[in-house]
Formats: sequence, C-alpha cells, structure tokens
Amino acid sequence: MRFSMRFSIQFSMRRLFLAALLAPSIFSAAQARPFPGPDVQQIYQRLLPQIEKIPAFDHHAHPGYSDDPDVDAMAAPPNASEALRTRDDNPELAAAAKALFGYPYADFSPEHAKWLLDKKTELKKQLAGTAYFNSILDKINTESSVANRAMMPDYLDPKRFPWVFFADSFMWPFNNERETARNPDQGVFIPLQEKMLRRWMQQENINKLPATFADYLKFISQVLEDNSKRGGIAMKFEVAYFRPMTFGDPSRAQAEDIYRRYVTGGIPSERDYRAFQDYIFRYLVSEGGRLRLPVHIHTAIGIGDYFNLSESNIMNLESVLRDPRYASTIFVMIHGGYPLEREAIWLAAMKNVYLDSSFGELAQYPSAFKETLKMWLETFPDKITFGTDCFPYNQVLGAEESYWLGVQSSRTALAAALAEMVSENEITETRALELAHAYLHDTAVKLYGGRVH
Ligand SMILES: [Zn+2]
Repeated sequence: MRFSMRFSIQFSMRRLFLAALLAPSIFSAAQARPFPGPDVQQIYQRLLPQIEKIPAFDHHAHPGYSDDPDVDAMAAPPNASEALRTRDDNPELAAAAKALFGYPYADFSPEHAKWLLDKKTELKKQLAGTAYFNSILDKINTESSVANRAMMPDYLDPKRFPWVFFADSFMWPFNNERETARNPDQGVFIPLQEKMLRRWMQQENINKLPATFADYLKFISQVLEDNSKRGGIAMKFEVAYFRPMTFGDPSRAQAEDIYRRYVTGGIPSERDYRAFQDYIFRYLVSEGGRLRLPVHIHTAIGIGDYFNLSESNIMNLESVLRDPRYASTIFVMIHGGYPLEREAIWLAAMKNVYLDSSFGELAQYPSAFKETLKMWLETFPDKITFGTDCFPYNQVLGAEESYWLGVQSSRTALAAALAEMVSENEITETRALELAHAYLHDTAVKLYGGRVH
C-alpha cells in the first residue's frame, strides 16, 4: 500500500512536469501502443546492421576442442534427451559451418562431415597457438568471451578468453557413495566433482583434507585468491545439477561439527551433508564479495533426464539473493532462470543481481527468444547481459558452430525486440542502440573492474 501511494505521487508529479514541458498533442503521440506498426520491419532492417557492428562480450561460454576434458567441470550424462534445436541434425548448424568455414553441404553425412573436419585441421595448422580461436571470435565480432572451464588450456588467449572457474567441488569433500548412487547422472557428475577438488588440493600442495574446519575454509579462500591471480574473473556454480538450490542457514559451529565427524571417513546423513554444503555455499558467496569475484550460478533447466526442475528453480535462490549480508557480492544468474525468465527478471531488482541470457537463445528459436529479451528490456534493461553457452558438441560440430549460432540468434532477436519497442512508441531508435550496447557488451564488462574488455 505504501509502495503504491509513493508510486502514484511520483507518477503524478512526473505527469505534471511532462505536461508543463510538452504540448498535449506531443504527449499523446508518445504514448506506448499495444501493437507494432507497419514500420516494424523497416526499423528492424535499420537496427540489425548497427547491432551486428557492436563488438560483443560473451558472458558465458565453454570454448575448447571436443577432446579437451577441461571444457567443463562435469560431463554430459548418458543418453540425455535433447530439445529440438540443440540436436546434432539442426540444419542451422550447416549454415554455421558455411558462414565460418565455407562448408558446401546442407547435411552432416559422414563424408560431408569429413570435409569439415579436414578444413578445421588445416586451419588449426595455419593458425597455431591461440590464433585459431581468436580468429573465430573475429569472425563473429566478439571482442572477448568468458571461458567457463575447469582449467585454461594454452590454446586460448587469456586476453580474449577470461577464465571463470568452478567452485562447486568444495561442497563435496566427504565420502560420496550415497550421492553418486542416487541416479545414473550423479554417477557421472559426482566423481568429476571429487576430481576437481583433488585438483584444487594439488594446486595448493596438500594431499589430504585439512584436519580442522578453520583450515578447510582457509584452503578454500586460498584457492579463490590464487585463481583470481591466475586470471580468474569469477566463480561459477552448477550446483543445481547436484542438489536442490534451497540453501539453509546453519551456524559455523554446526558445519564445523559435521566436518570434524566426517573429514576422515564415514558417510554423512543426507541432512548433515546438505547442512554442511549450505554453510560452504554461503561462505563462498561471502568470499566472492570480499575478493571482488562475481558469483555465477547456473539457473535453468539442465542437461540429463534426472535434472530436477522444481528443486533447481531459480526462485529457490531468492532468500540468498535478497540477503543484505551478501550486498557486496555480485551475482550473475547464468541462463536467466530459463524457462522462468519472467519471474527471474524481478530478482534483478536487487542492485547486485544480473541476468545472463545464454542458452535461452539456443534452446529457443529467435522468435521466442525475442519475447524474453523484450520483456527483460522493458523491465531492467541495465541488468541483463549477453552470452552464448557455446560448447563443443562433438568432433564435427564444435564450439565454433555453437558460438556462431548463439551470436546470430541473439543479435537478430535483440534487433527484433528493440524494433517492436521502437514501433510501439516505448523507446527511440537512439535509446534502442544504447540498450543494445549495454546488453551485448557494456553492462557485463563493468562488473569486472577493468579486468575484461
Ligand atoms: Zn554453460
């Protein structure tokens, strides 16, 4: 009630102010209308080439070769169902290969696929070291792209591929027999988390878990600090794949007690394990604020047939995101809560919460993705960022093709969303281009204090 009163007072003051400035006829001409006019296609045709010229910052991607196990900290689960557009036989992937490599075929029959494989092998020889992937970014007009990877390879140029590392594994330090046995997907995921934790331990030259909880927390902070020094710009959670995203708020003493009981062995009860993880997650989130490492969280449906939608629902994070204790932590909601984008955008009301649109542009066709972007642009246009979620699907269809498809889909959907907003009298074309720059590049880059460009 108080809110709506304040709103209506402000609103009428603004109206008075506008009425004093503008003639009534101009005022009514600026009213938004519910349908685009016949000019919408022309506006789209004017906006698109300008939007294509904006060098992009890709806020979420997994660049790398298909035989590189460090592209992600987890792997695709066995026999997972793929939605229509993300299947290997999507003809748009042939268009991608054509645009990037001059691929002359419309399908990927084995002999045609061999042409593409040979072409890429030849290019990689010509463009040695980091030049090959830099040339892909040049072709799609992406200035830099986040590399959300387990570790960085020497074939990606760190100046154009800033590293976002994974932070989930600190939540699985105990005996994970029960966790692994839950379903076939966890059978793949959890051992990879154990492997990631061992690699962080190797990095800090320890070969077993610290004896005390205080030292375990110190070890975690040391990894974060070292990763930041090694070029890491943010930490990423894909925790939705491994457990529910409802986080309790246990005390340090509770977490310490659980650590003491299981650090040297034994299988914690699910309740104890979750409580321990809740504490570690909140510790990492706080450290993200202290160390100026934004926190990226996978918030969307996920691959694998056992991925639990209701348990991973982005709204489960609301109690963490709106907690004033974490006000100095920057949160990026990777994949923008898809398919709950409409709810998700209201989380970006928090000053420190941003939404990334990656994957939405691949899971949906541009006609549907346009609606997502339009709704976001009409709500908190300064809190949304572009990403592709590119990934090397297989030996033939690589990160290259999914980069291309992600960028093309996002730019066309963006131009279409903005064209409708202009035609519906919501914004001017000048403002539309400012919003395009913000979404494709500026808003994300500002989150990293000069570390990316
Ligand atoms: Zn991803």
